[in-house]
Amino acid sequence: MSEGFKGGCLCGAVSFECSAEPMFQANCHCDDCRKSGGGVYASFAFVDESTISISGETGSYEHLSDSGSTMTRHFCKECGSPVFHQNSRAPTRLGVRVGLIDAAGWFKPQANVYASRRIPSTPIDPEIKAFDKMRS
Ligand SMILES: [Zn+2]
Ligand SMILES: [Zn+2]
Repeated sequence: MSEGFKGGCLCGAVSFECSAEPMFQANCHCDDCRKSGGGVYASFAFVDESTISISGETGSYEHLSDSGSTMTRHFCKECGSPVFHQNSRAPTRLGVRVGLIDAAGWFKPQANVYASRRIPSTPIDPEIKAFDKMRS
């Protein structure tokens, strides 16, 4: 990929621009990611908050992850698109929803997280790592 990426939500009220390449890319198959986005899994590009600028107003929802940390999920208050999440264990790391990134053809997950919880019809690439938990 070229350096950085940008994107935004469905209605355009929230947009973001990141100046760095993601430090980690992953698909998550956990129940929480499924429910928060409505898809059978969620794809994330993890970036440090110092490298991304987000404009527009987001709402947030906090819940406990099963490892006991607090997940804060940020979404567009207008259209409801999930934008990014933060884990209290590593609060400066944002997991940006890849579905909102423009021209995300570079996306290549390095891992499938909570792979054991995936819906059986979801194909996963056997060549990449599968974790049964979220890396912290
Ligand atoms: Zn929106
Ligand atoms: Zn998840």
